[in-house]
Amino acid sequence: MATSSATTFFTRLLANKGLPLLIAGPCSAETEDQVLTTARALKAMGQVDLFRSGVWKPRTKPGGFEGMGPTALPWLQRVREEVGLPVTIEVATPRHVEDALRHGIDVLWIGARTTVNPFAVQELADALAGTGVPVMVKNPVNPDVALWAGALERLERVGITDLAAIHRGFSTFAPSRYRNSPTWQLAFELKARFPQVPLVCDPSHISGRRDLILPVSQKALDLDYDGLMIETHPDPDHALSDAAQQVTPARLAEILMELKYRYRSS
Ligand code: PEP
Ligand code: MN
Repeated sequence: MATSSATTFFTRLLANKGLPLLIAGPCSAETEDQVLTTARALKAMGQVDLFRSGVWKPRTKPGGFEGMGPTALPWLQRVREEVGLPVTIEVATPRHVEDALRHGIDVLWIGARTTVNPFAVQELADALAGTGVPVMVKNPVNPDVALWAGALERLERVGITDLAAIHRGFSTFAPSRYRNSPTWQLAFELKARFPQVPLVCDPSHISGRRDLILPVSQKALDLDYDGLMIETHPDPDHALSDAAQQVTPARLAEILMELKYRYRSS
């Protein structure tokens, strides 16, 4: 568990909860109803700390669903104000940061396809400087810890200390049962360099398939990760992105019951 003398959004949540953080919500915000239905179900579970949702989607191929963009931001505002869950979205440009903060988004994250690009990370760092918003940084798509560390350093250098790292696995050419190889030792290397930064596992993007969410989450808890980010959708098979890996809120509740938590002391 991350220990730090500085209190951050994440360390405060961890200290209050005494358990790993749980971030859940759909891969993409698709409709207002889908967002609010998911958020209400997750809120009712009583264990979700942060509602995630993609608004601008970095898709590998053009022509697919690229997210609802700013249209979805008022839906997320309703999640925080009416449902009562803080919300987090991915940002990839300074314009995204500006739009997100104008709508009161609580936490922002930098996605795997952005962490690979130091120019993009620096532009984001400059846009985020002084805003006070907590930032999570996903590992880059490729297995390069230096890029992941470099992104965190760029944020620290502009004075952002309210940080978390998200391990979402690495692309690999070798055949694998995973969509993105976890290559756990790379996350340990990052943790060794940033012991004060909470480390969250994203079993959804590691697995790419819903039957692996439980074992990958359990492995992360066994390795003392500080949190899990799990994609959740009311009708996963019809999701507009990442359909194969999303679980229903009901299945998430079962997964949480099945997970064995280690005793955590802060
Ligand atoms: C996501 O979280 O939906 C996403 C696009 O993730 P990543 O950047 O890890 O591919
Ligand atoms: Mn996704």
